[in-house]
Amino acid sequence: MYDIVIVGAGPAGATLARILDKRYKVLLIDKRNLNEDIEYKREKCCGGLIAPDAQKMLAHLGLGIPKDVLTGPQMFSVKSVDFDNGMEKHYQRHYINVNREKFDRWLVSLIPSTVEVKFNCLFISHKKQNDYIEVKYRENNKDFVVKAKILAGADGAISKVRKQAFIDCTIPDTYISIQKCYKTHNEMPYYTSIFDRDITDFYSWIIQKENCILIGSAILDNDKANEKFDLLIEKLKNYGFDIGEENKKNGTLIMRTKKIKQINLIRDNVVLIGEAAGFISPSSAEGISYALKSGTMLAHSINNYNLKFAKYYTKESKKIKLNIIIKNFKAFIMYNKFLRKVIMKSRILSMDIKDINQKNK
Ligand SMILES: Cc1cc2nc3c(=O)[nH]c(=O)nc-3n(C[C@H](O)[C@H](O)[C@H](O)COP(=O)(O)OP(=O)(O)OC[C@H]3O[C@@H](n4cnc5c(N)ncnc54)[C@H](O)[C@@H]3O)c2cc1C
Repeated sequence: MYDIVIVGAGPAGATLARILDKRYKVLLIDKRNLNEDIEYKREKCCGGLIAPDAQKMLAHLGLGIPKDVLTGPQMFSVKSVDFDNGMEKHYQRHYINVNREKFDRWLVSLIPSTVEVKFNCLFISHKKQNDYIEVKYRENNKDFVVKAKILAGADGAISKVRKQAFIDCTIPDTYISIQKCYKTHNEMPYYTSIFDRDITDFYSWIIQKENCILIGSAILDNDKANEKFDLLIEKLKNYGFDIGEENKKNGTLIMRTKKIKQINLIRDNVVLIGEAAGFISPSSAEGISYALKSGTMLAHSINNYNLKFAKYYTKESKKIKLNIIIKNFKAFIMYNKFLRKVIMKSRILSMDIKDINQKNK
């Protein structure tokens, strides 16, 4: 019997697996293959920006990002383009631009060899028995059943663990996220965030990754997501953005936690961390810091309290909940057309930039 089975080796699951005491028998499964030397097949759809909160968390964990995980350019400002108010401003921000797939693989490479890791392995279902949980997974088209004392769902926005264990619970608002990659020869040394209510009540973004720019949007309206994304591209072209030839398209769901009751944590020794729990910023969709934080909190709770971890993890995660409440307040201001206009007009915290790439200046 395993002490803990972890589903998902993203930042949340990999952090949990890394920090759990070696005395525990741990199994970590992921449907992706995150071995460092294997070619990518299922890439995580992500902007790959390590925000200050995630940087702080990495520092707290005693980690520094290796050189080969970084990509270029490194950006020190965000350009906010407000199509609703016809305004744009730059703000100083310190992101670290990474190759997300390499970032995930690096975190996985830090997991101790005492953890049994299985890739290309799909979690199917779980069943609660008296004093253990039966976990079913599929590997090489064969189904296997193992026993575990604790099942940790670190399987991201579309969490199957959450879907099965928290059937009657409310989950965060679910957005469709489309991200396309366009070839470019230009430099875009800032991260661009776009506000446009014709596209979404959340936001769209542009991030350069070497000779490619990622354009993405989080759209609530499932039926018209593609149509709205095409409209975004048309608007950006008309605005003067030099968008090259389309190269790759990616898409997934993204959570937006607007209410604390949308966060689900523990039920009968089935516990959630990272985006599966609903830990993601409702203002920026930043989720890596929360994944690292909640993975760490759960590991410490289990290491210190064993099967009585639930009370401690619930208590610790109140800090993340409070942070999400604050981010919701920030989102209220950011996504209000009038308040955003007042702030942008006031030039508070904004900075002047010599923007040689912008054609229509
Ligand atoms: C388009 C987009 C852009 C984003 N940009 C940023 C950004 O720039 N910066 C930032 O901080 N955050 C960003 N986020 C959010 C961030 O990607 C997530 O919040 C973060 O990855 C959550 O980490 P996690 O470990 O909880 O889940 P994930 O990283 O999603 O990892 C879940 C893992 O579970 C595995 N899995 C899922 N289902 C199963 C199953 N049934 N069986 C086995 N394995 C399974 C997956 O393969 C995956 O490896 C973005 C999200 C999206 C969608």
